[in-house]
Formats: sequence, C-alpha cells, structure tokens
Amino acid sequence: MRKPLIFGNWKMNLDVKQSDDLVRSLLSVKLDYGMVDVGVAPDFCSLSTVARTIRDMGVPISVAGQNVSQHEKGAFTGDVNADMLLTAGADSVIIGHSERRTVFGESDELINEKVRLALRCKLHTILCVGELLAEREAGVHVEKVLYQLGMGLKGVSVDRVNNIVIAYEPVWAIGTGKTATPADAEEMHAAIRKFLSKTYGPVIANKIRILYGGSVKPDNIGALMLRENIDGALVGGASLVAEDFIKIINYYK
Ligand code: PEP
Repeated sequence: MRKPLIFGNWKMNLDVKQSDDLVRSLLSVKLDYGMVDVGVAPDFCSLSTVARTIRDMGVPISVAGQNVSQHEKGAFTGDVNADMLLTAGADSVIIGHSERRTVFGESDELINEKVRLALRCKLHTILCVGELLAEREAGVHVEKVLYQLGMGLKGVSVDRVNNIVIAYEPVWAIGTGKTATPADAEEMHAAIRKFLSKTYGPVIANKIRILYGGSVKPDNIGALMLRENIDGALVGGASLVAEDFIKIINYYK
C-alpha cells in the first residue's frame, strides 16, 4: 500500500568528488525503483553535482537538502533557502534532524517554520522526530515524540501534508550502533500513525510514510521492514558505503 522509501543522509562526511563517486557507485547497480523509492541527502556543496549525475542517468533517485532556512531570502549569511535547494536540483529536504535540534539548538517552533516554508515551496519534507535516552528510560518517549510531531506539523493543512514523510529517529540510536528493536520502533510508528489519523483522518494517515532511523544496517533492515507501520529508513553511516546502502535498498530480496 505504501511504497517503501530508503533515504541516505550523508551528513558532513564527503567532499564533492567523494559524493559524486558514491552516487555513481549507486547508479552502477540496477535497482528496482518500482519496488522501493530511493533518496540521498548530500551536503549543500555537493548537491547540484550529485543531482546532475542522477538526472543525466535518468533514474528516479530523490535528492534532499539536509536542512533549509526558515527565511525566503535576504541577509542571512550562511543560510540556504528552499529556492536554492530546488534550483540546485533537490526535490526534498530533511528538517529537524536530531543533530540540528541538539547540536544547533533548533527549537520545535523553528522547525515548524521551516516545515511550512518548505511545503509551501513544494519540497518533499522529511520531518525528523525522536526522543533522548533519558526520555525513553523515563517512559515519556511516546509523549515526547508526539509533542515534536504536533509542533512540527502545526498549521500544516490537509492538502500539504501529503508531501510529508516522518522519520522516527531515537537520538540514542543515531550513529551509536544501537538500534531500536523492531517492536519498539513499531510501537512508536503506530503511535505516530494514530496521531496523524486523529489530525488528518485515516485515509491521509495511511498514505504518509514513516521511516525509521538509527543505526540501520544491512543485517537489521529486514526485520524492521516486516513491521506494519515501518515504511522505510533514513540511513546515516551505512549510506556512506555503496555496498551496504545497496543491500539496505534491496532488503526485500
Ligand atoms: C541519521 O543520521 O539520520 C542516522 C540515522 O544515522 P545512523 O544511521 O548512522 O545512525
């Protein structure tokens, strides 16, 4: 019903040539884009090169910015706006990644501004949510994630929410080698879907893809994808190694 989506987040790890080499390795393998949607999020400097390589090969790999400004234009040194992403070749953007929240102090209010602007500019938006370890240990993880979700989607209309993908990424699982168990991830994904259903109705909620992120690897993707509400993955570390990322994309084989 929902087509799986596997998205690679390359973070600040590769220069322009390394990013282009990585996408070329990905493109050198025949992937079944009818079975799985695929996307990559290079850094801003590499984005147009990667997008051009993908476009020249004529494959439907999505390209995302890893962040976007909440401003449309103006004197915001160092910021990158939605139009810049689109004209550089991106069709999507990741907003509210836990590193933006925890390292750069992005608030739920700021993330909501970015989400609304990105959607207005017709960027497919991957909104990231996730709890800290202390919040999971205190048993408030679902409450915390639904709060982030409600804040992130504030003012997002039924018409625009179709362009949203939610990524549930428990902060304690990102880059740590610890993955949520499929059951823990499913508990959260089901709670997210229920929230979406209450807010936007069951028809729309059933169409929105909810990705899991946090140390996804070739050997754990299969079990995660068996769960009803897990529709794909946002992959950090393992997306930097073409062979591993390809195995994750081909999880169903
Ligand atoms: C991420 O950065 O979104 C992520 C999930 O990273 P990793 O797969 O390395 O945990």
